[in-house]
Amino acid sequence: MKGAVLVVCDSLRADLIDDATAPTLARLRREAASFTAFRGVFPSTTRTSAASIATGSRPASHGLLGNTMVLDEGAGLKCYSAGKPDFLERLRRVTGRALHRPTLHERVASLGPAVLMSNVSPGAAYVHDPEGAGYVYHRSGSFGPGRAPLADGLDIRVGADGDDTMTARFCSEILEQRRPPYAVLWLSEPDHTGHHTPLGSPEHRAAIGRADANVARVLETVDRLDPGGKETLFAACSDHGMQTIRRKVDLDERLVEAGFKASLDSSDVVVAPQGTSAILHFSPAAADRIPAVLAWLPKQDFAGEIASGETLSQWGLPRGGTLAIAVSLAGDDEPNAFGVRGRSDVAENALGGESLPGHGQHGGLGRYEQRPFLVIRAPGIAHGSHFTNASLVDIAPTILRHLGLAEDTLDGRALTGA
Ligand SMILES: [Zn+2]
Repeated sequence: MKGAVLVVCDSLRADLIDDATAPTLARLRREAASFTAFRGVFPSTTRTSAASIATGSRPASHGLLGNTMVLDEGAGLKCYSAGKPDFLERLRRVTGRALHRPTLHERVASLGPAVLMSNVSPGAAYVHDPEGAGYVYHRSGSFGPGRAPLADGLDIRVGADGDDTMTARFCSEILEQRRPPYAVLWLSEPDHTGHHTPLGSPEHRAAIGRADANVARVLETVDRLDPGGKETLFAACSDHGMQTIRRKVDLDERLVEAGFKASLDSSDVVVAPQGTSAILHFSPAAADRIPAVLAWLPKQDFAGEIASGETLSQWGLPRGGTLAIAVSLAGDDEPNAFGVRGRSDVAENALGGESLPGHGQHGGLGRYEQRPFLVIRAPGIAHGSHFTNASLVDIAPTILRHLGLAEDTLDGRALTGA
């Protein structure tokens, strides 16, 4: 029976894959199909990227707009973390659906239940299957079809040790015994270590090596179960890359100082920080401030590329509603102490949200955070480098084509024959 297996190495920059650090992925890049111009989505946060991989759609289409999102639950605009286990239910109450597009879990259900094992945030795990079509294993709670809680949860911690435990179980229990039509393993490394240690440091490179070893374990299992490689699509990718944090900027504070926002916790102008980018919402009463903010923002030293109006659509964001401006924060191409290039300012929210550790970060359009990697080994996809403009949204249609399923209501296109 045909099947697809995807391994995601969260935050692994394409330029940090080499024979010394990640030998399996380096070899796959030579021996399988490698997509050299592969790009992420905006914002380049894990939850948004996970939704884009799962739905084959950009954020404007699937509706999950970042690691944090501004919603109005009746008491005015407020910023919420999309990482919390209950966030998708919150989104469903406000907008009527968790995601506006079906996920791979829903799309493959006619062939059998899909399985995800994830060691990143709960929000980024549950976004693969908000409707409960298949299986989702996560330390915050594991669920089967119909969102029925599973007794055999995933009792692991973020980091390489938890990734190893999860991978062993994924290989023996999911791939060998259950053989689902679509199985996805989402590793927490090297994202976890990249946030907490300098990019390219011995610790960060070791974490990349641990992720690479888990890719090797999955590949070895796939090769053993399907020796000729005729039935199985195997893909490994990252959701985004990382930049080194240059400086932390409190956008709420800047907006209050400039007179655009009444106070740090006011609901007139509300910022959804996304690491190295931010999305700005304006209440109907404050909408007349948008032109002035758009005139002020480009003059600020923390502002990189800015989107409003039609440009929001080009960035893959929805138009209309209260979302009016997106900004990718400024950066440069300077190397850090370990010679790894690319620094960016990050948006920090003084009122909580999620505190930012001090090393790697992502979320914007920076050169290296927009350089995830993708390798695929499947019948119908030629080996070697592909220079086509592939992105995260092309993974789902590629898997659907391999499985012989309909490729409708997708923003991406199958990379087969690319
Ligand atoms: Zn991250």
